Amino acid sequence: MTALPLVFDAPRRGMPPRHLADLTRDEARAAVAELGQPAFRADQLARHFYRGVTDPAQMTDVPAAAREALAEALLPGLLTPVRHLSADGGRTRKTLWRLHDGALVESVLMRYPDRATVCISSQAGCGMACPFCATGQGGLTRNLSAAEIIGQAVAAAAAMASGEIPGGPGRLSNVVFMGMGEPLANYARVRTTLRALLATAPYGLGLSQRAVTLSTVGLVPAIRRLTEEGMAVTLAVSLHAPDDELRDSLVPINTRWKVDEVVAAADAYAERTGRRYSVEYALIRDVNDQPERADLLGKLLAGKLAHVNLIPLNPTPGSPWDASPLPAQREFVARLRAAGVATTVRDTRGQDIDGACGQLAASDRVDGVPSLALPTPAMPTPTAEPPVPLGSETDGPGLEGTA
Ligand code: SF4
Repeated sequence: MTALPLVFDAPRRGMPPRHLADLTRDEARAAVAELGQPAFRADQLARHFYRGVTDPAQMTDVPAAAREALAEALLPGLLTPVRHLSADGGRTRKTLWRLHDGALVESVLMRYPDRATVCISSQAGCGMACPFCATGQGGLTRNLSAAEIIGQAVAAAAAMASGEIPGGPGRLSNVVFMGMGEPLANYARVRTTLRALLATAPYGLGLSQRAVTLSTVGLVPAIRRLTEEGMAVTLAVSLHAPDDELRDSLVPINTRWKVDEVVAAADAYAERTGRRYSVEYALIRDVNDQPERADLLGKLLAGKLAHVNLIPLNPTPGSPWDASPLPAQREFVARLRAAGVATTVRDTRGQDIDGACGQLAASDRVDGVPSLALPTPAMPTPTAEPPVPLGSETDGPGLEGTA
């Protein structure tokens, strides 16, 4: 497989129109005032947006004469659902979104007995070029705006609240940035998104810091910057190899920032926030699943405020990469635990719906991007819960674009 170059600078083309969710509260109020409306209308619009109301006709607390103009100026529709794919009896739902410029991104909503998690995308495509990742192989199209990222979480919250997901009306409790893209490569907009996820109504979803997981492939300067933000969201670092030799090829960003630097930056984050970080490790057959690599990883992380989350790779069509067999997974876990490192294996939800983020968009690119919403294709209904071989902590639809 030919190595792709790392791409840090996203093309500026294609960014969407301004949206209320891109703005601070003061900016939103100023924008409303510019439209000749009292500033408090911004709060009303925000309340509707974060509740998932998209139809101006439903914004009955805003004078009818002003609704259309305000919505057009500050609540432009940015995400059009192209299709939903469901699995796990409807409790896992993946949505392919078309953006205003035709770019495609995905989010996955997963409902569990005790929580509901949405996995969201932060970029269209990704410039980090991980060779095992469908998204990485497609390259970087552009950064998403804050409103485009927030909108995925808002849609998930609305789907939960309305009872669309089997189990009755519920609440979105968790957000993970493990969809398409490397969140820290789109730093400012992801920071705006984090603030909105944590903010209380009307300008946010009111999630707890612990319930928001930001996953990075290891952009060390950006991890340091995040450490200084005063937020304490959960940090997940996609390591995938404990040694530089393998990681240089498996996670090309490692050619910039080495394993020790990434772990040191995560340690500093944990020290500042008091929050254990997660080390994401895709178990790939005969690539990084050897017992000696488990020992190396155990040595690297022993005594640290870290938790290892092993992810059996969700193979992408046409890829030579495959998941580790169960005995190799068990051996890997046992060795890490013997080293004193807390370890779980991720529940790989949604494998039968192209559960690796990037795959659905990739297949649509191959088949020709549909320009209109498509009916949801019939999906095989799983007869049982997907296996969770050795315990699970971090939510995720298999190995997504685990930035
Ligand atoms: S694994 Fe994550 S960082 Fe790597 S290419 Fe895929 S989306 Fe990007």
